[in-house]
Amino acid sequence: MNILTKLTLRFSAIVASILTLFSIAIFVFSASFRSGEFYDRLESRAMTTARLLLTVQEVDKALLRIIDQNSIPALPEEQVLIFDKNNELDYSSVESTKKSYPPELLERVRREGKILFKIGDIEQVGLMYRDAEGEFVVMASAYDRFGRRKLKNLRMILLIGWLVGIGITVPAGLVFAKQGLAPLAKMNNQVANINAGNLDRRLDEGNRTDEIARLAMNFNQMLLRLETAFEMQQSFVANASHELRTPLAVMRSQLQVTLSKERTAGEYRATLQSLLDDTDAFARLTTGLLQLAQSNVENQRFRFKPCRVDEALFTAQEELAKLHPNYHFQMDYAALPDDEEALTIPGNEQMLSIAFLNFMDNACKFSPEHTVQISLISSQGRLEIHFSDNGIGIPLDEQEKIYNAFHRAANVQGVAKGHGIGLSLCQKIVHLHGGEIQLKSAPGKGSVFIVRLPLQSPN
Ligand code: ADP
Repeated sequence: MNILTKLTLRFSAIVASILTLFSIAIFVFSASFRSGEFYDRLESRAMTTARLLLTVQEVDKALLRIIDQNSIPALPEEQVLIFDKNNELDYSSVESTKKSYPPELLERVRREGKILFKIGDIEQVGLMYRDAEGEFVVMASAYDRFGRRKLKNLRMILLIGWLVGIGITVPAGLVFAKQGLAPLAKMNNQVANINAGNLDRRLDEGNRTDEIARLAMNFNQMLLRLETAFEMQQSFVANASHELRTPLAVMRSQLQVTLSKERTAGEYRATLQSLLDDTDAFARLTTGLLQLAQSNVENQRFRFKPCRVDEALFTAQEELAKLHPNYHFQMDYAALPDDEEALTIPGNEQMLSIAFLNFMDNACKFSPEHTVQISLISSQGRLEIHFSDNGIGIPLDEQEKIYNAFHRAANVQGVAKGHGIGLSLCQKIVHLHGGEIQLKSAPGKGSVFIVRLPLQSPN
């Protein structure tokens, strides 16, 4: 069942229940009011008859009967009977009445003073009347024709009103639900037309205040994020293929030149050696690209495990030392805590050592002595790792941009080779661990990359 039908049905059901309750309440109150009013009239009728017969000397039974039968308004099927203390009928407003009451009932009237009851549709009142002549029981009964007819009319009016009300409610509910859902239907059409090719499209945000407008605004923000991510991915692919093509082109032209004429064994050896170096660099580049792509995927399915930061640092140092035996590492353990717990963070040790290796590699390759100073400090629920060098430094206006994939600062030309993907990867890994990177650097004076990692899981 769609929402439109559901809303219409619910709306109609609510209105129908209210109408029903309202009609029942009106009917019940009117019925009780009618019977109360009728009993009052019967009671006063009984009192008047008794008073006239028993108190007023001039009125005898025959006269009273004439008065009773001709008084206006006489009630339909009205009968007033008066019984003496022996339960003998003393007076009846109707000649030769067949009506009689059981003695227990008359006794009850004497006991209680007044009783109201019904026999079939005929309302009855029993009253005790005392005067100088003794105690009498006055029984008055009549049929409330007018009251009952009015009640019947009221029931008919309420039933017709109920049916008409429901008849109006269903189409009104449908229109109401359609109007309420119209912005959603419009939004649905707009969403259906958005695909990978037109991610720049946005939904109509309406008045920007109600719930549907807020849904549209949130959806638009999601589209913006998707568009940005999509563009970044496209530019990453473009940059990556450019980075991959350049070394391949260099290697190809090297081979072409070498093959263009006969070479000596030494020349062939030199070319092969150069190709070997280029292949190593190429392998490193593809590894870096793979890691960067992997870090994007890891972002979504990252599982935290307790891992030792100092061990990740040693692994990184060992690997880098194997690749570059000329690099120097100066580890400062002065502030290192004894407690193993203080060095353990929730994370992925392998990814952390990839990041640390990049920081160390940069520090060494951009400094003339190829030296990196590393210190590990534990303070206030987090770990700080400092990677310092006395190298070429980073210009102030480039310090933000160096985390963008493939960006390299202007002052590295001719100093060291690279592809500008290491820091982008480092930043992703650190953020994944809920950490942050701070950079202090001045051109010509060196750089310090400070990595701060929380000891508790960021989730
Ligand atoms: P790559 O090292 O391959 O160039 P990275 O992403 O690791 O790529 O670094 C991006 C840029 O940041 C570098 O090209 C360099 O300009 C700058 N950089 C990073 N670390 C240092 C450092 N320790 N000293 C000077 N410049 C640095």
